[in-house]
Amino acid sequence: MSETSSAGTDVTSFDVAIVGAGMVGASLACGLIDAGFKVALIESGELNLSHSFLPGQVDARVSALSLASENLLKNLAVWPIIENMVRLQTYSAMNVWDACGTGKLNFTAAEQHLPYLGHIVENCTITSALHRTLQHKKYQLFERSQIVDMTAQNTVPRQLTFASGEKVSATLVVGADGPNSKIRQLAGLPTREWDYPHHALVTRVKVTKPHQNTAWQRFTEDGVLAFLPLKTAAEEGPGHHYCSIVWSRPTAQAQLMQKLQESEFCIALTRAFEGQLGTVVATDQRHVIPLRQRHAKHYVQAGLVLVGDAAHTIHPLAGQGVNLGFLDVAALVQTLQQTRQQGGDISSVGVLEKYQTQRRGDNLRMMTLMESLSRLFGNQHPMLSLLRNTGMNWVQKISPIKQHLAQQAMGVGVHLPPLSQAPQSVKNTL
Ligand SMILES: Cc1cc2nc3c(=O)[nH]c(=O)nc-3n(C[C@H](O)[C@H](O)[C@H](O)COP(=O)(O)OP(=O)(O)OC[C@H]3O[C@@H](n4cnc5c(N)ncnc54)[C@H](O)[C@@H]3O)c2cc1C
Repeated sequence: MSETSSAGTDVTSFDVAIVGAGMVGASLACGLIDAGFKVALIESGELNLSHSFLPGQVDARVSALSLASENLLKNLAVWPIIENMVRLQTYSAMNVWDACGTGKLNFTAAEQHLPYLGHIVENCTITSALHRTLQHKKYQLFERSQIVDMTAQNTVPRQLTFASGEKVSATLVVGADGPNSKIRQLAGLPTREWDYPHHALVTRVKVTKPHQNTAWQRFTEDGVLAFLPLKTAAEEGPGHHYCSIVWSRPTAQAQLMQKLQESEFCIALTRAFEGQLGTVVATDQRHVIPLRQRHAKHYVQAGLVLVGDAAHTIHPLAGQGVNLGFLDVAALVQTLQQTRQQGGDISSVGVLEKYQTQRRGDNLRMMTLMESLSRLFGNQHPMLSLLRNTGMNWVQKISPIKQHLAQQAMGVGVHLPPLSQAPQSVKNTL
């Protein structure tokens, strides 16, 4: 069972101290505790232990989980808890089109010989399932604990200081503390980063037509509008259809849309989505999130490693951020587990660079693809518009390229670490 810390002057030592208990940090904690490491999990907020959500209580933030992410959560025994919360929505098709032309792309599970392409899940459902799984594990939890200092580079074990003055030391410190990572800053790890001139407007909406278990994306020269299918609560019954929307817009327009009366917003959204799902009739609270792409130039130092958004923050265009983070988790667990089995040192730069090599190229490729798409669709030059429309229709007709793109998005068809593979193959590998 998890132990909660009490302030004291003794410095407690751990194999691994994970800073941040979001989706990435919490799943890493599950994986490393299962692998027998002595783990501390440090979170500035509180763990989310909700068993169920009230009808109508929704998280505006959702994730489109790939098959590889589903595998990870199954291997960590977290998936059944998510399933029990009855908030999972499968999607079995993806429709993408260019508003400024005739370009269209359509992916279906049937053409991949799969029952579905992935799932849409609210982020709070994922964190709740992870945090509840952690409740039954043996590790040390530091909640409402903000890290304010860390011993300098190349001192192993590292010592972390909390705002309360309490200290812990660990052979390996993991920065899983999100895009504005304090651990990355304290380690002095540089990043390459830039703002997009866009903000994402995020909310849940009610539409008059069924979403057809399809993820929809409409590209325009001033942003992308995604409608992701959501599960309708059982108590609402048939005839109620909900989607989560992510609408990236130039900053001023996103802020304007946030302030519109609900009826005006619904009209604007119905028009922007070309009425594909009938009329938008209601919306929850609208959130506006700045979009920034950020990539740490190095993920590792002696005794320190970055995972998830602390290492890479990606444009939500393809819904891949947490999927990449979960692949980081699976790769890091594999590296640390193998190192310990071979009697190696988990704080060594040489060991941690194996993890970096495994993940950095993949993350960079996905970020470059998102950047290129964002620039391609953000350009109003008629020649580029013609090219991208022709390109989309061309990809639609050439099945090997389409197959490759679909497999990348689903997180299959690439070399996966054991925890990201289907549960049966993990049993055979470990
Ligand atoms: C609009 C939008 C839509 C998206 N849609 C998708 C999608 O469909 N699919 C997908 O894969 N990804 C999506 N993403 C990306 C995804 O949400 C992120 O990649 C994911 O949330 C990152 O998880 P994380 O655990 O790395 O970081 P975070 O969720 O940021 O968690 C970090 C944790 O660290 C804690 N913390 C921070 N600082 C400290 C500190 N100093 N001390 C202790 N604790 C600390 C925080 O409280 C938090 O709990 C989307 C992102 C956006 C903006």
